[in-house]
Amino acid sequence: MTDIHEPLPAHSATPYLETLNESQRSAVEQLDGPVLVLAGAGTGKTRVLTTRLAHLLMLGKAQPWEILCVTFTNKAAREMRERVAQLLGYENEGWWVGTFHAQGARILRNHAEAVGLRSTFSIIDTDDQIRLVKQILAANSVDEKNCPPRMMSNLIQRWKDRGLPPEKVAGTEGSEHADGMAPTIYAQYQERLSTLNAADFGDLLMLNLTLFQNEPEILAKYQKKFRYILVDEYQDTNVSQYLWLRLLAQGHSNICCVGDDDQAIYSWRGAEVGNILRFEDDFPGAQTVRLERNYRSTPNILAAASGLISHNEGRLGKTLWTDINEGEKVRVHGVWDGEEEARYIGSEIESLHSKGHNLNEIAVLVRVGFQTREFEDRLITLALPYRVLGGMRFYERAEIRDAVAYLRVIAQPDDDLALERIINVPKRGIGQATVQTMHQFARAENISLYTAILRLLETDEIRAATRKKLRGLMDDFDRWRGQLNTMRHPELAETVLDESGYTAMWQDKARSDKSPDAVGRLDNLKELIAALEDFENMTGFLEHVSLVMDNEEKGDDDKVTLMTLHGAKGLEFDTVFLPGWEEGLFPHQRALDESGTAGLEEERRLGYVGITRARARSTISFAANRRIYNQWKSAIPSRFIDELPPETVSVESASGLYGSYRGGGRHNSNARYDRGNLYRDKLPNSAFQESFDTPSQSFDVGERVFHQKFGYGEILHIDGNKLEVAFEKASTKKVMDSFVEKA
Ligand code: ATP
Ligand code: MG
Repeated sequence: MTDIHEPLPAHSATPYLETLNESQRSAVEQLDGPVLVLAGAGTGKTRVLTTRLAHLLMLGKAQPWEILCVTFTNKAAREMRERVAQLLGYENEGWWVGTFHAQGARILRNHAEAVGLRSTFSIIDTDDQIRLVKQILAANSVDEKNCPPRMMSNLIQRWKDRGLPPEKVAGTEGSEHADGMAPTIYAQYQERLSTLNAADFGDLLMLNLTLFQNEPEILAKYQKKFRYILVDEYQDTNVSQYLWLRLLAQGHSNICCVGDDDQAIYSWRGAEVGNILRFEDDFPGAQTVRLERNYRSTPNILAAASGLISHNEGRLGKTLWTDINEGEKVRVHGVWDGEEEARYIGSEIESLHSKGHNLNEIAVLVRVGFQTREFEDRLITLALPYRVLGGMRFYERAEIRDAVAYLRVIAQPDDDLALERIINVPKRGIGQATVQTMHQFARAENISLYTAILRLLETDEIRAATRKKLRGLMDDFDRWRGQLNTMRHPELAETVLDESGYTAMWQDKARSDKSPDAVGRLDNLKELIAALEDFENMTGFLEHVSLVMDNEEKGDDDKVTLMTLHGAKGLEFDTVFLPGWEEGLFPHQRALDESGTAGLEEERRLGYVGITRARARSTISFAANRRIYNQWKSAIPSRFIDELPPETVSVESASGLYGSYRGGGRHNSNARYDRGNLYRDKLPNSAFQESFDTPSQSFDVGERVFHQKFGYGEILHIDGNKLEVAFEKASTKKVMDSFVEKA
């Protein structure tokens, strides 16, 4: 515990107040009673919260452990502690600055018995949740086909987000699921958790609510303890978090929430933007402070983001201004395909770096996790260090490591580590004992595992049944190795994953719902095959991967950040790259399909969050052709690009790059990515128009052409702007006409 700090006279001890503007200062100094700071991006909301925390301590209004401060991520909590420590000149221990989950767990550990747990309860992850649901469904003879465990588990989580324990779920709710037994399944799931002395993430708050409702004196204790409550990113709280805060603040109402309705991006996880809009009703007499001055970004960045978000209907609307000097316009850059996008962004980063810019101040923010892969590859090639925040780096993922292990054993049979990794993946009955025998033998003879196996197969050291399996695997490897010279390496990789049963293993898991992320893993495997296309041969690819792994070892602290737009909330960088602004990818098709207009508006808010992360430079890019999981799709620019005020953006278009947009009438019609010709009339800038109007080259069947990746070939068939070409060095492929030139 920290010692008590004597309050100091305000004028001398609060230099930090001097740096605030008037509105911010009023939000900081209004210490008692409910305060809502509702303001746009970069206006200093988080700074207000941090300063307020410091100010409360400085004035001696509360001790560190008497202030509950909730932030959205652990990273944000850490930063907040550091900032406060800096303002105060000393560190604190024992204070309550952290995420909702962390604080909920902390309270629950102290009172676990009251909700049927012991204080040592474990916190289970999604995988375990689904496994548990699966068991319960089986025990109730509910067919998984009608009610996939993953879906049932989601349903339970959404109930928890709303603060509803089983007994509070209304009669008919969820009756369409699990043969009408969804609430029963939920109740049994909770019982089971209790027996296992475990809680899932949703429980951490929901059980707090149960606790507070059942034990008023415990609630009263916390109400008294937390004399002040501070909440960041209030727009993204779900009902359960909201109720929790409301209960805790009820006594003194010293609650200060900051947020921005335009940055509500978690409704898919149960967040309710309505919570922020209702604040004044919930806390009568609340002071609402509006901050309008943005300290983060240049006027162009601000105006671009404001213009974009103004297309949303359900919003409060805000004015933002800055007195930062003009600065660059938001750049909109069109490229051929994802590879070129990665090359472009890579070289931009390289050039900034060479001019002395800090890599830490550069971020690439993507819509979907898999997008980071191409940038990772590019940054590795350029030897620029990077980190992937909030997600695993592509080549670190288990399924990618497995797949690469197969390829390594093919290219290099003596790679013992790789062989050991996949020898029994998927399970083929080669157990630990067999592996031990092999190791012993290899060590004794000083040979590789692979050679050891081949020799052991000639003996009876290993059981006949296992031997047969091993023989089969060795034969497979022999065959694949032979194919190294006859097959293109991406195809070989695909063949290996199929024939080894590796892909089937994940397909099974996806089907039987054993693993909630099986589908994502299958997507990653497809992305791996796509990655292979970028290398001349297997050796080149494997060398690249070992460089990736090597890069990971270096403890270099100056790194480019790669992360999703969702993860970037609240953060800021000098330079931000926003790739993949194409219909279907961003706005994401799934959001549109599942939530219609509401989904579109949430995507637009994500765009707003993305652009406003930048202080000085914000660059949006889009590709004319996008390979998603190894399938080429012709893409059209995101409608969000059209919505940016033209005077705030500068469009960079290298002529001839927009081949696939040419001749609107024969635009490749791909249902998911096609918005027909709509965009032609709504272009933000005439530069686009010119590039669309470039006359198309026309091709004839039988003509010889050259393609960047596949080399020379002859056109067999033409279908719109898709050509079927028999390539001399590769097999017959379908390609976009814009990717080939007359040879
Ligand atoms: P977001 O909506 O993205 O979470 P925010 O409203 O929380 O943004 P902050 O992150 O607190 O904004 O502040 C944005 C930037 O502006 C920070 O770098 C912060 O230090 C700076 N800033 C805020 N207020 C002031 C001020 N009064 N004087 C100087 N800089 C300020
Ligand atoms: Mg903030």
